[in-house]
Amino acid sequence: MSVETIIQSAPRITETMIAARFWASVDVRRRHECWPWQKASRNGYGVFHPTKGETVGAHRFALEIALGRPLAEGMQARHLVCDNPPCCNPAHLAEGTNADNVADMVGKSRQARGSMKSRLAEADIVSMRERAAQGALLADLAVEYGIAPSLVTMIVRGQRWKHAGGPITLTYRKASA
Ligand SMILES: [Zn+2]
Repeated sequence: MSVETIIQSAPRITETMIAARFWASVDVRRRHECWPWQKASRNGYGVFHPTKGETVGAHRFALEIALGRPLAEGMQARHLVCDNPPCCNPAHLAEGTNADNVADMVGKSRQARGSMKSRLAEADIVSMRERAAQGALLADLAVEYGIAPSLVTMIVRGQRWKHAGGPITLTYRKASA
């Protein structure tokens, strides 16, 4: 490789290395699941340092990697699917304005008063049941999905939304011993 080639490809290599370092800090799970940030956070949102002295929201960076460009001026990364601040799954994120975010939150709190189900997709209920059956702590699932531990218990036991599917578990781990 010539020196010129190395110099020309340097920005791309640096970008790839930063992205690799970023994804190493994310618990990348299956496509429909939340991918929680594993490192430093602020107000529940992951914090990432692409370079020394540069700080960006982890969910924002995840969306920028997926889009292949920085978010447009004044735009934010919104959790459209899950309402889960540490989540970095680009499939759960969308670019939007602050006004979109506020409208979204108002809409969501209205829905939440009507039915909790509006905040949980059926796929979330199935994966929650699968993970409880595999020994995941219900307390951890409650944090991850942003719902009350008592609701996780009812979901795992099949007392709520039984039709959504997934294994019903009656012996599970509520908290670490
Ligand atoms: Zn998510």
